[in-house]
Amino acid sequence: MDKEVLNMGKSYKLIVISALLAHVIYLLAFTYSGITVLQLYNFGSVIFYAIMEVLVSKKYYRVATILVHVEICLFVIVSVVMLGWEFGFQAILVAVCTLMYFNPFTRKRRIYVFPIMEFVLFMVLRNWSLRHGPMIAVEGEGYYYYLNYTFCFGIIIFGAIITKIATDRLERENTRMTRDSLTNVYNHDFFIEEVGRVLRRSGKQYYLLCTNISGFKFYNELFGVEQGDKVLVEQANMLKAAAGQFCVYGRLAGDEFGILIEKDNYSEEQMTAYLNELQKKFSTFLYHMHICAGVYEIRDNTEPVNTMCEKARIAVDEIKDDYDCCITYFDDKLLQESLIKRRILGEFQYALEESQFCIYLQPQMTGEGRMLGAEALVRWIHPKEGMISPADFIPVLEESGLISRLDLFVWDQAAQVLRKWKEQGREDLYISVNVSGKDFYYTDLYEAFTGLVKKYEIKPENLKIEITETVLMKEAEKQMGLLQKLRDFGFEIEIDDFGSGYSSLSMLKDIIVDVMKIDMGFLRKTDHGERSWSIIRSVANLARTLEMNTVTEGVETKDQVTRLLDIGCDVFQGYYFARPMPVMELERQYLE
Ligand code: C2E
Ligand code: CA
Ligand code: CA
Repeated sequence: MDKEVLNMGKSYKLIVISALLAHVIYLLAFTYSGITVLQLYNFGSVIFYAIMEVLVSKKYYRVATILVHVEICLFVIVSVVMLGWEFGFQAILVAVCTLMYFNPFTRKRRIYVFPIMEFVLFMVLRNWSLRHGPMIAVEGEGYYYYLNYTFCFGIIIFGAIITKIATDRLERENTRMTRDSLTNVYNHDFFIEEVGRVLRRSGKQYYLLCTNISGFKFYNELFGVEQGDKVLVEQANMLKAAAGQFCVYGRLAGDEFGILIEKDNYSEEQMTAYLNELQKKFSTFLYHMHICAGVYEIRDNTEPVNTMCEKARIAVDEIKDDYDCCITYFDDKLLQESLIKRRILGEFQYALEESQFCIYLQPQMTGEGRMLGAEALVRWIHPKEGMISPADFIPVLEESGLISRLDLFVWDQAAQVLRKWKEQGREDLYISVNVSGKDFYYTDLYEAFTGLVKKYEIKPENLKIEITETVLMKEAEKQMGLLQKLRDFGFEIEIDDFGSGYSSLSMLKDIIVDVMKIDMGFLRKTDHGERSWSIIRSVANLARTLEMNTVTEGVETKDQVTRLLDIGCDVFQGYYFARPMPVMELERQYLE
């Protein structure tokens, strides 16, 4: 059933009840004046409208509507045939007024079917009546003649009022169904519907864009929801202003807007200018607003619109955090990545519960090949995919914050191994574990580490904490107190991947850490071998001056070891000595 007809429910009922009442009054009037045929007719009508009332309450609107037409046409026929054209004409007025409202069809073209049929019927009736005259002579001056006129007039006014109320309601209902209440542009559902309609009808080529405001939640928290709403309204207004270029636009959700634009009308410069203008409008010295758009080139106009939006969204997600970029295009690689991402996130919790994760240990050695300790590196042993590298899933888990659950597990595993080694009389060995940036926010690091030390009765200096340089840089000021507390408890902090991020040497002045892990990987990529060695030498000197130990990671050749020893670096971790391996394997190779 059409939405519009359904939405008329209440006014429908009102009309049916009015018609029922009208016929009761007619019935009484004709009983009083003794016109039996009309009395009978009105008696039938009363029963008819009582049935209608039932149909309408059961929501059979279309059947009810068609019946109304039949009944009203009968009413006109009886009036004209019995009382003549002049009297019946009033009935026609009532009929037209009522029928206008009761149209069983809401689709544009079919809407004329009933009025045309009825017009023809009324014209035929008129001719017949003018030729034959009324069957019952009605006295022109009769008392009920005036009464009847007044009554018809009342019904017409009443019908008009009801029609007005109903159309207003319909309009409001339509607005509610199609528009977003805050911005008054199309809402999600209607946008999808409308885009689908445009694409089905037109053979042209289009782009579907999805815009997003980075950190809009943060903006709301900073400036209040009302100000956030203003931004959205303003964005919608700008969309409206630029509407000439767009085919369809609407608010998809929260801070996301969707735009369908014809390929020929699309210009990246124009779009960028538009986004920049918005951005400028709401950026303050406290907050730089970053609005970006993902663009999906529609190749198949019959693809589900929701999928298209999702693809544009995947593209926009890709640049949300990249403040230099505000437009990006969807491609299949992005889709693959996003599918993998979703799969990882979907399977993670189950995998953790099912013990699909375990730790591998990579030894840290002296130049002579004596093991001092090891770094714990997580591995996902997937029942179908085999071993998945942390490089594939750690970034995804980090993005979502799920990493902290995994890290808690890894730290616990490492502590268990330390406990076992302690029992075997090897309390001299340590294990380093990785701490992700998100761990600072999703766990209580102090509680977690001190808790493990107490639980397994191990020495805190044997459980070393690796934090990457990039994370340290970002968190240094905020977390200085926490890091100090951990050091005071006896833990050693290591800067991981030193030299690979945008380090600021002044950072080293403020945060005191114990070990510098120099990653050789970042030097390997360059061709300037000698210059790289100079850098390593300076870093090693710097560490010495600051009384920090060094561990060199990613050592792969004997030559590297010799040169590093020369420079004064004497702890190594790298494939030259050993690859990461299962705990049992490491114990077999180095502890027995
Ligand atoms: P990372 O902390 O820098 O770990 C060292 C990575 O370098 C390891 O990769 C290791 O297998 C690899 N590696 C060691 N020696 C060599 C070498 O000689 N040559 C080369 N080319 N590579 C070497 P892996 O295990 O794939 O881990 C990758 C990254 O994943 C780690 O980098 C770390 O950032 C992260 N990660 C691993 N386990 C965890 C964990 O439990 N928690 C967190 N938060 N991150 C982890
Ligand atoms: Ca590490
Ligand atoms: Ca590292």
